[in-house]
Amino acid sequence: TTRLAPVLRDNLLASTRAWLEKPPLEPFIGGSFRAARSDDVISVIDPGTGLTLTEYTAASAQDVSDAVAAARTAFDDGRWSELDPEQRESELRLLADLLEGTTETVAQLEALDTGKTLAEARLDVDEAVAVLRYYAGWATKVEGAVYPAPRSFLATGTREPLGVCAAITPWNYPLPILMYKLAPALAFGNTFVAKPSEQTVLSTAYFAQLCAQTGIPDGVVNVVPGAGATGAALTAAEDVDKIAFTGSTRTGQSVMRAAATTTTRVSLELGGKSPQIVFADADMDAAIQGVMAGIWTNAGQVCVAGSRLLVDHRVHDEFVTELLRRTADATSLGHGLAPGTTLGPLISAKQRDHVVTLVEKAAAEGANVQTACSLPAEDGFFVAPTLVTGVRPGQTVEQEEVFGPVLSVLPFNDEAEAIRLANSTAYGLASSVWSKDVSRVHRVARGLRAGTVWANTYGIFHPTLPFGGVKASGFGRELGSAAVDHYTELKTTVIGL
Ligand code: NAD
Repeated sequence: TTRLAPVLRDNLLASTRAWLEKPPLEPFIGGSFRAARSDDVISVIDPGTGLTLTEYTAASAQDVSDAVAAARTAFDDGRWSELDPEQRESELRLLADLLEGTTETVAQLEALDTGKTLAEARLDVDEAVAVLRYYAGWATKVEGAVYPAPRSFLATGTREPLGVCAAITPWNYPLPILMYKLAPALAFGNTFVAKPSEQTVLSTAYFAQLCAQTGIPDGVVNVVPGAGATGAALTAAEDVDKIAFTGSTRTGQSVMRAAATTTTRVSLELGGKSPQIVFADADMDAAIQGVMAGIWTNAGQVCVAGSRLLVDHRVHDEFVTELLRRTADATSLGHGLAPGTTLGPLISAKQRDHVVTLVEKAAAEGANVQTACSLPAEDGFFVAPTLVTGVRPGQTVEQEEVFGPVLSVLPFNDEAEAIRLANSTAYGLASSVWSKDVSRVHRVARGLRAGTVWANTYGIFHPTLPFGGVKASGFGRELGSAAVDHYTELKTTVIGL
């Protein structure tokens, strides 16, 4: 039975409450939910109250093996890959419509499970729907090639599905990140096994039920909820043809090691420590707004969180004062589902403690720590928006991914120093430049080692825009046409004429 804080009962739709009474959190294999064969019980916790909402049993290695076998069979017999592309397109569009139709319920579940605000959770569902629709269209658009081989041959290149694709995903954006992988995989005819983060399994389970309401055949989409052991079983499975991983750099490295033993292709979307570079000639109002969105969104638990502010020393003090004032004005820290909340809790007590420890360490090392508000009275895993100034380059807080609402601020003297500081971490996911000088924007963008550069804006994601990292932020690009390479194999056929 689900345990909800009394204050939440009035804020949930009847459909959300009903679903939570008996959530289907068993492994979803071959089109049905089946009891997991393990003793590993995991709690689903509401980060806004610390209360356990429900529990589920993690998928065992045997369950993972069954899910992979179901996906293999569904791929090999062609029940999905051999459909006409327009049929795959229409099933994916139906799935998008179903998801869109349940936006409010799914958003409530996601807010409850992740701690994010309901407004942000709704945006997650909107994004998932948009990505599904975008790749539905690709099912009928991917084309092959005719190569200029010698005249006595006809040589063609055809795009074929890879086979069984596995996704291992984190807890910060459960649905959009699942969709970055599932939507192109299915559009091109692959079958799929998803392993959501053990901390956020609700929306993926809900989504599996929606899949069962479409004409997508049984076995095409499978879900194995569980923690690292379940993920490790999936990466060890021989019959998986591709592993798409999003998560921390350390876990990504072990996924890559496991994939090496089975020669499985991988794509890795990993952590970040993204700089926001503000020049003195920037539109300060817009820059403050962008820096705020870049670091406070989802309480800083964002792979592209703009967690390092590099600001021209001439405007440093003024910028920091105004940033703190506006953040204080804009922040209402509380439960993600409570009306009026603009900033929710962190995902877990462990994550909160990790963030607090990093801030305390920075203070002990001489940095200046300022918070924008006090903590709410409730028991959730809250951290107030925190500015850390007087940071020395190379200090832990400006090098490590904090994954919380903590912004390190460093002044710079000139453009070359700004670029050097920006590139001085192990990561290379995103970055931004704030300046009205168009040439400077291009020069700095060229100098940044990052998968994405935003200029005079921040955090723009769209189904058409390839996204991914360099250095310790991983490799491979999701979204846009880049997914064609990720989820299809190119076959060369040479015919003697
Ligand atoms: P995590 O690495 O702890 O876990 C990610 C997933 O891997 C989870 O599903 C987890 O259960 C699974 N896992 C853990 N150990 C495993 C193993 N040995 N083998 C296989 N799977 C295993 O990451 P997290 O804490 O859930 O998420 C936060 C991290 O994700 C941050 O570092 C963040 O930057 C990163 N992230 C990156 C992107 C991106 O697109 N680049 C997006 C979101 C989050």
